[in-house]
Amino acid sequence: MSAHSTAARLWMAVEDRLIPALRLTTHERAIYYHLLRRTRLVGRRMLRISRRQMACVSGLSTYTARQYFRLLARKQCIRFVDRGAAGCLLSVFLPDEILPRLPAGILADSASSGQLASLARRSPIALDAAGQPRAWPRTDHFRNENFRARILHRDCHRCFYCRRALHLGKWTLDHVVPIVRGGLDTASNLVACCVHCNWEKSFTPAAEFLKSLARKKILTPSRLRSRLHALRSLASAP
Ligand SMILES: [Zn+2]
Repeated sequence: MSAHSTAARLWMAVEDRLIPALRLTTHERAIYYHLLRRTRLVGRRMLRISRRQMACVSGLSTYTARQYFRLLARKQCIRFVDRGAAGCLLSVFLPDEILPRLPAGILADSASSGQLASLARRSPIALDAAGQPRAWPRTDHFRNENFRARILHRDCHRCFYCRRALHLGKWTLDHVVPIVRGGLDTASNLVACCVHCNWEKSFTPAAEFLKSLARKKILTPSRLRSRLHALRSLASAP
């Protein structure tokens, strides 16, 4: 297949499937297209990009640009592999790598906007006042240092899932119920976790993810029971 037709197929997959499924905003689309151009279209999977380059690519301030990169990471389009003085090392994914990881409800959602109301009744996808999926609500919690410190302290500075010790700059907040499933940016739905678990869990329900860690011998049976108990306690917290 020629490079031209490969690029055309990729473009159509992004336009026809990925953007509707993830409801990518204009900024997110521009950044994603740029990253595809610099990686997958030239046979690479990763690139290193500095904060300044993030701003240049998006035409935004460095702070705002980073927020959009983080949103793309939350939507599974990219993954932060490493952070260093020279910038962030990113892995960039193709629509065919991203879409199979999405919950079935989200994919059905993009297939027919007329089915949104019935989908919302059958699944926990919240709708906004305009009847559109409230899939990516944004709050200040992710960048509120006091809030993040409280969650980290509550979770004893350990990954909520695998229980590894969390170190400065090597952890993140994870939604127990993913935002795309109607989860909120509240303390009872956010846990501290390692970057690896955050990526691996993706849209998997938290209990299922914990069981997968037990199957991989990362959690012992007794540790699994205690984590499932912690999960139930979190859900019943005010
Ligand atoms: Zn972990």
